[in-house]
Amino acid sequence: MDTPKADIRHILIDYLARQEPGTSLSEWITGMGIEIRELEKSPRRGTLLLRSEYQPNPPTILIYQDVIEMWHTKLVEEMGLTGIEESLLKELCLVHELLHDLFVRAKTHFPRQEARLIRKISLRQEEFLVREIVRDWMKSRYPQYNDPLNQILDIHEC
Ligand SMILES: [Zn+2]
Repeated sequence: MDTPKADIRHILIDYLARQEPGTSLSEWITGMGIEIRELEKSPRRGTLLLRSEYQPNPPTILIYQDVIEMWHTKLVEEMGLTGIEESLLKELCLVHELLHDLFVRAKTHFPRQEARLIRKISLRQEEFLVREIVRDWMKSRYPQYNDPLNQILDIHEC
């Protein structure tokens, strides 16, 4: 499974690089026909606190502000990471959920052969790849956060 995984990773990273400079991530995403909804409260309580969620029908990304805020507070107040904005954390969630859309609606985003390759991946591998690619994306998009990257993402469970 190693080769397709590496190929898929490249295909998806290339896709993310298509975001035009001057267009915000959320503008780019909504331009693809994906709705972004920011909700005040995450519906999950208990141990599983989702920061964001992807729903395919119709394509929608849900962002849960309360949990993003908790994540932000933890990074800034408990871990002392200054200069981390909530908007950055939101972007990480947006990229994460966009990647799920690229898997689920591969046929609308990619030529047939690439889409077929992408659809071969299991859900577990999909989640793993999504997290890896978010990491790559953040490294290239925000090199200034390279040092705290692991701290930011290790508690990243969009
Ligand atoms: Zn996910």
